[in-house]
Amino acid sequence: MLPQISLPKFSTTIKEINKTFHFRPFMMKEERAIQMAKAIGTDIEVRQTIEQVVQACLISNKLIDVESLPAHIVDYLFMQMFMRSNTNVLSVNYHCRAIYKKYDFIKMTDPDTGEEYEEEKVSEQECGYDSTNFLPLSKIELLYPDSFAENTVITVSDNIKLYVNAPKSSSIRNVYKMTEINEETNEPLFSEAEREDAYSNLVYESIEKIVEVVGEEERIYTIDDFTRDSLETWIDNAPKHVAEKLTEFFSELPTIYLKTEMRCLRPECQHKTEVALTGAKSFLDLC
Ligand SMILES: [Zn+2]
Repeated sequence: MLPQISLPKFSTTIKEINKTFHFRPFMMKEERAIQMAKAIGTDIEVRQTIEQVVQACLISNKLIDVESLPAHIVDYLFMQMFMRSNTNVLSVNYHCRAIYKKYDFIKMTDPDTGEEYEEEKVSEQECGYDSTNFLPLSKIELLYPDSFAENTVITVSDNIKLYVNAPKSSSIRNVYKMTEINEETNEPLFSEAEREDAYSNLVYESIEKIVEVVGEEERIYTIDDFTRDSLETWIDNAPKHVAEKLTEFFSELPTIYLKTEMRCLRPECQHKTEVALTGAKSFLDLC
């Protein structure tokens, strides 16, 4: 029998949801899964790997179903785990795109007089210098859009209200289906039908309940009471503002966020740019 390896334990408290999570660092198998997803995975596969890794590393929180946590909380936990497993400072290459004016003098001949003269030619040139910069991962925070709410209540009619929750981590793959772009053609990666389908799933999976008041009685409908297709038809037949409110609610989601400054280390340039990174995938792309 081999000796048992004990791993250090860490914890992080997310004050927004008032919860402390205990976790262990990544093991080799999780590092491998992350590298694989990065190398060949689509956004959706990367998302699934992040969920699986977070689920595996949570200790004493085994009852937490990571897929049903909000996506930004899962991303935040993932980055906390990453920092404890690897490094809390990512070194990244910054390619400077500062534009400089370049002055050249070109010898010209006047066609009428044959006289020679020099003409100043101004062209623009990119600095192009590569510098190593450091991203302080400990400064990652949760960014909530101004209009964001964890849940919302939409008044459908005098006696009907629709309660909607912010999307769960597992629902975010629907958002990717709606927004993913083929980088070569700049066209959406999924067809219009697939995108509409993804939106319907997103709405369906985010409904908490529908409450109807009939006289003294409150009737509560949850997704166990209706199918996705019947909900879609129901929303189609509802007043226009219902669909508009839903789109508005889903259009701005919270995210993990790191704002930092990149600096060009070429002494004559020293150009600085602010960069903002959002979402766990943008960090994974860098490490
Ligand atoms: Zn530069």
